[in-house]
Amino acid sequence: MIEYTLHGPVSQERARIRLMSSLRENRFPQSILIDGPAGIGKKALAMEIARALQCTDPNMRPCGHCFGCRMADDSGATEGWVVPMESAEAHARSSDDVSAGSKAKTIEDFKKGYIEEIQKNPYRVDIFSTGAFISVDLIRLMTSSFAMKGDRIRTVIIAEADRMNESASNAFLKTLEDVPPNTYFILTTSSREKMLQTIRSRCLALHLLPLSDDEVRSEVAKVAGEEFDETSLTDDIVGLAVGSPGKALYYAEHGATWCKLAADFVQKSIRGDYTDLFLQLKDMSLDDAYEANRFLEVLSFLLTDMLRSQAGAPLRLPETTQLVGISNYPRINATAIELALVAVQETMSRIDSRRISPSMSMQALSLKLFEGYK
Ligand SMILES: [Zn+2]
Repeated sequence: MIEYTLHGPVSQERARIRLMSSLRENRFPQSILIDGPAGIGKKALAMEIARALQCTDPNMRPCGHCFGCRMADDSGATEGWVVPMESAEAHARSSDDVSAGSKAKTIEDFKKGYIEEIQKNPYRVDIFSTGAFISVDLIRLMTSSFAMKGDRIRTVIIAEADRMNESASNAFLKTLEDVPPNTYFILTTSSREKMLQTIRSRCLALHLLPLSDDEVRSEVAKVAGEEFDETSLTDDIVGLAVGSPGKALYYAEHGATWCKLAADFVQKSIRGDYTDLFLQLKDMSLDDAYEANRFLEVLSFLLTDMLRSQAGAPLRLPETTQLVGISNYPRINATAIELALVAVQETMSRIDSRRISPSMSMQALSLKLFEGYK
């Protein structure tokens, strides 16, 4: 019998055990959807599965050195991936249509660039721009590669599969209804609910768990590179990451400033010190919807901690919560904080739906925060 060993963090062992037994028993599903929070390693697991499936070693898979394993790790083997792209990139010509000697970047060149980024650090949460999506052309490019026959096992990782637009979803659904032999689809998403129900129901659902704080630190150390300053991983930053090395890396860059701003946001909203706060927000230029919502995430963690500190529960952002000094504001009770949390959530979904500019909605939020409790 062939032995399979999938490698990864201990916190996610249960998911891997399930996969390894279906590999061993030769009943691995042809399509699988890995879901879980952003930046916890879903793409890393997808790559490990691709290696295990493509490996041809007679005893131990993935072996790491056979042709199949090497193909799985080759960023130039772009037919093994579907990734979200910006519109202009997705409209570049395919290498099949470009004459020899042309210097123009092909769609495969762009794809290779993204695959390299993922292979370098699969935890990263900001590889694709907010506007990048999976178009129907990208799905067709993938299915057209199926025409090349061969007995070799083929795996296709569809990264951030929730970014398929409607026509791409429909095209992919057709493929799923009749998966070619020897072909395996591995989809990843942190927004399962955004995907077509008909696609979800045709995939084995695999829910991946966040890592422990210690694992977050050790995984970040593995992928971050030498220039990364480990002292930026404070308790508050690891607390913000909630088990996601990708988010820890992201917050290591922006988090300290955002924690400080969140503390100011709360204090100045309570005091009605809006002029100063608006100037501060302007300086931060949180105009990008993604960044604005990550800041609001920090703010909602802080508010939750204020509730926890009143209840004497352990805190996620001990340093920042200390900074607010909630005991200085006796009128701000649990109800006031709960209402503030609701207001933050509403603002996040308003920014998400692009109904209002991030800076406008943040000003409106500060006016609304602790309304009636000041
Ligand atoms: Zn191998």
